[in-house]
Amino acid sequence: MMKPETGIEALVANAKDEQLKAIGYKILHKERISFDEGVVLFEKGSLSYLGALANWVREQKHGDKTYFNRNFHIEPTNLCVFSCKFCAYSKLYAHREEGWELSIPQMLDIVKSYDGKPVTEVHIVGGVHPKMDMDFFVELLKAIKAHRPDLHIKAFTPVELDYMFRKAKLTTEEGMKLAHEAGLDSLPGGGAEIFHPEIRTKFVKTKWMQMVG
Ligand code: SF4
Repeated sequence: MMKPETGIEALVANAKDEQLKAIGYKILHKERISFDEGVVLFEKGSLSYLGALANWVREQKHGDKTYFNRNFHIEPTNLCVFSCKFCAYSKLYAHREEGWELSIPQMLDIVKSYDGKPVTEVHIVGGVHPKMDMDFFVELLKAIKAHRPDLHIKAFTPVELDYMFRKAKLTTEEGMKLAHEAGLDSLPGGGAEIFHPEIRTKFVKTKWMQMVG
């Protein structure tokens, strides 16, 4: 039995709930917890208890180093040809007076506003605009890289890429190659994994879910 002294050991030893205590000890003994134990943690564990255990595991694996990415965002437009059920962000192109569309010089001005600041990445995502096509974004990527070559460009959800590739009659491979050569370094994460299967099926016909689900 681990000696309850300070820190995480004391936290686990003093847990009032016997199930939470047993799971805590399992984690401290580096044993994998089961799905049901994860549910118990979710239902009964306080955020601080969970956070302390998660941080302990993180430090066991990676030491006490924490890395931060300093980035800034550009949203070229919120106009979108799709209307995903869950989206409270987009406006249909037919209602474009309610949304925004940035030109390449406007977006480059945003990039330039970070000149001299220690950012490492620009994150670019937005709606699927019918007129912002492959040529438009290739020009944007090249302009950003020409201005600040060391800036990592993380851009475009799969649904944006799919639309621009199809419009340009490019395969996914051809489109990705072209975007990468123009300066695209990585894509943002999807997020579909957060949905419970029951909820996912409600969205499954949407373009977004087809691409990232
Ligand atoms: S494709 Fe993206 S921006 Fe367009 S409606 Fe769906 S979630 Fe919203």
